[in-house]
Amino acid sequence: MTKDKIEVHCYCGERDKPNMKKFFEDIPMGYCGFCDICGEAGHLQAHPRSPTSGVWCDTHYKELVSYKIFTLGDIIPPLFMFIIVGSFIYNIFTLLC
Ligand SMILES: [Zn+2]
Ligand SMILES: [Zn+2]
Repeated sequence: MTKDKIEVHCYCGERDKPNMKKFFEDIPMGYCGFCDICGEAGHLQAHPRSPTSGVWCDTHYKELVSYKIFTLGDIIPPLFMFIIVGSFIYNIFTLLC
């Protein structure tokens, strides 16, 4: 058993099954669904973190996988911007009053 290959479990393998013919009717070859976000052809697969499944195109699935909880590095720069812009606006208001 090798674990170095990440296999995405999707419904592409079901295409040949006779009872799935209707399901795959409108779906282009090589895909098994349409992206829930943008409507592009994609794959019906399990959510990487939630016990749900959905259809995502390659772009949105990658986005989903790389999505992470905010780290300090993500929070501090916008916070600084907020403080700078905030103090700038505050200065203008105090000048006007
Ligand atoms: Zn697929
Ligand atoms: Zn998409």
